[in-house]
Amino acid sequence: MSTVYFVIPCYNEEAVLPETIKELTAQIQGMIQSGLADEKSRMLFVDDGSRDKTWELIEKFHAENPLVNGLKLAHNRGHQNALLAGLMTAKEEADCAISLDADLQDDVAVLPQFVQKFQEGCDVVYGVRNKRETDTWFKRTTAQSFYKIMEKLGAEVVYNHADYRLMSKRALEALSEYKEVNLFLRGMVPLIGYRSDYVYYDRHERFAGESKYPLKKMISFAMDGITSFSVKPLKIISNLGFLVAAISVVGLLYALISHFTGNAVAGWTAIVCSIWLLGGIQMLCLGIVGEYIGKIYSEVKHRPRFRIEQHLK
Ligand code: UDP
Ligand code: MG
Repeated sequence: MSTVYFVIPCYNEEAVLPETIKELTAQIQGMIQSGLADEKSRMLFVDDGSRDKTWELIEKFHAENPLVNGLKLAHNRGHQNALLAGLMTAKEEADCAISLDADLQDDVAVLPQFVQKFQEGCDVVYGVRNKRETDTWFKRTTAQSFYKIMEKLGAEVVYNHADYRLMSKRALEALSEYKEVNLFLRGMVPLIGYRSDYVYYDRHERFAGESKYPLKKMISFAMDGITSFSVKPLKIISNLGFLVAAISVVGLLYALISHFTGNAVAGWTAIVCSIWLLGGIQMLCLGIVGEYIGKIYSEVKHRPRFRIEQHLK
């Protein structure tokens, strides 16, 4: 039997917490009864610096339910950092940890399957969505094109897998060796390379509260994923540079011919156009190069990724 931890990052989730705790308690108890999990198994709620009553609720449930543990981050550090904080804590106390969202959009009925696969010897079990009917058209299309782009750029991500996954203690220890600050866990976990498997499930709608991932956060998350895992954008820039250089040779020939045939003044339009074109492209390139320099900057600082304020056990 193994100690199973559920790790649940929560940001302003007071509306969903009581129900979530109820359902997950039932899951843990079920697993204990069926011999999948032992008595030391817990839910670990990570409060990601919420501004509502989330932490008070976690404290309250911790007092009355022995299965509820809590971890309070001092600031709102975002989903990925909060999740990592939880996983790194679970690593010390559990044999395996399953990460899931507080809103239970990911079907909890498949939780025992994760543990079964773990007991069969898998170190990582990915939860994969069967279909995305419950997502809005917009979210579905943007998310799916994101997976396709990531694949084209050469980063290994599991299609339609978010952060619903089980990791063994060994896999978590490996994950802790990745010291990067720009976290994109679903890209990092496949790099660990231990034996893995999939569990398929249907995604539900959020039963209460609002999505904490507005468009702005989604875009910056996707950008993080791409720039942290692929240097292809840099290659695209150099290719673009070659293309522009080739075009400008033709332009130069054209300008020279115009000069010698006495039509130089007529070239004004071409000059103005190329100034704008080149200026634009250079700025674009600088921007993308700047993205990477920005990352180097934050990586070399080696700042701590989270600070735990309290730890209820
Ligand atoms: N979350 C977090 N910190 C944040 C934003 C979100 O810990 O800054 C948590 C949130 O409480 C939830 C999970 O990340 O448990 C996923 O967020 P959400 O359900 O809002 O995202 P969506 O399902 O809409 O993509
Ligand atoms: Mg959600």
